[in-house]
Amino acid sequence: MNSRSFDITAIRKDFPILNTEVHGKSLVYLDNAATTLKPKTVIDTVNKYYSAGTANVHRGLHYLSEQATTNFENVREKIRAFLNAEKTEEIVFTKGATEAINLVAYSYARKFLKKGDEIVISEMEHHSNIVPWQILRDTLGITLKIAPINDDGELIFEEFEKLLTPKTKLVGMVYISNSLGTINPVKKVIDAAHHAGAAVLIDGAQAVCHRRVDVRELDCDFFVFSGHKICGPTGIGVLYAKEHLLETMDPYQGGGDMIANVTFEKTTYNVLPHRFEAGTPHIAGVIGLGAALDYITSVGLKNIAAYEKELLEYGTQKLSEVKTIRLIGTAKEKTCVLSFLFEGIHAHDVGTLVDEEGVAIRTGHHCTQPVMQHFGIPATSRASLAFYNTKDDIDRLITALDKTRRIFN
Ligand code: PMP
Repeated sequence: MNSRSFDITAIRKDFPILNTEVHGKSLVYLDNAATTLKPKTVIDTVNKYYSAGTANVHRGLHYLSEQATTNFENVREKIRAFLNAEKTEEIVFTKGATEAINLVAYSYARKFLKKGDEIVISEMEHHSNIVPWQILRDTLGITLKIAPINDDGELIFEEFEKLLTPKTKLVGMVYISNSLGTINPVKKVIDAAHHAGAAVLIDGAQAVCHRRVDVRELDCDFFVFSGHKICGPTGIGVLYAKEHLLETMDPYQGGGDMIANVTFEKTTYNVLPHRFEAGTPHIAGVIGLGAALDYITSVGLKNIAAYEKELLEYGTQKLSEVKTIRLIGTAKEKTCVLSFLFEGIHAHDVGTLVDEEGVAIRTGHHCTQPVMQHFGIPATSRASLAFYNTKDDIDRLITALDKTRRIFN
């Protein structure tokens, strides 16, 4: 699909929720790292499946079932192309990034790692790329090593490299941090990990909506993302895994659809990728995700990146002008995440007061408590931008913050 020229007025019209009022004020949505808004085409596609196309997939011979199966499997191909994976067999549908990471932990790491082996992750991981490995550490007796970040919120690459040993079997690394906005040098990370003989999982939850991802160029072994962070429905996500790895992995869950043949004595499993998709999948979610990828492709990831860069520069400048604000996350390479502390005012109060002005931001630890521990803080306020935001939205945030400060003074 060709990308159209970037027309912010037209783009904003694609998102019906942007007409919503919150507390009597027009909505300014700056919580895109938590979940993105949905364009009408996604809403219509999901609606159409339920209103005119409901059927289960892979099982029926009737018209609607065949149609649903075709639409469902077409999305797998769409995702393959979107990530530039080699084969559709390498695309597994999951509930989200979290489930995709857990799948790798249970089906790959639990099978192939043993006591004494090491997993390396970074200090800026989302909890979903920490806790599954801790569970594994506690059951298998493996070691979990943490690559540190500096005070700009950047991975200290030399320290990461020092952690790699012949015992390192897996590296789990976030592509873009949801609480800091840092873009990690994942290609360098992958090459170094491979040099040490380790497989690499890249958490792309915050990446796919902001930049083109090419899993073959990256040469990552596993790549995960969630549909709802790229304008798609919630409850649907993707695991990309190299085919030769999937072939050796045990099924994640047992049930319908993942089998070839079942007797009480023995069950044989379905071919890839269905072996990893037990039970009725989130059909509407998959079809909606397909519409979301079409939409993002039509806007163009290059256009999105260029526009968001401008927004980020403007937002960083505006927030830096507020003397009582300290930005957390000042990496040289970063995307549209503006995490900050407002001197003397707790993040939760900031969030509540700006909400009264119709401005939605996120406050808290953003599921990255170790990042908060690094900076010695309990929480930040976080404005995370997307391609449908405007400089006006940032101005509305600044005005709301001014008002917050006046209330507290
Ligand atoms: N990784 C990162 C970097 C994230 O931002 C998130 C969601 N905030 C996740 C993983 C988990 O995604 P989900 O909750 O959709 O599974």
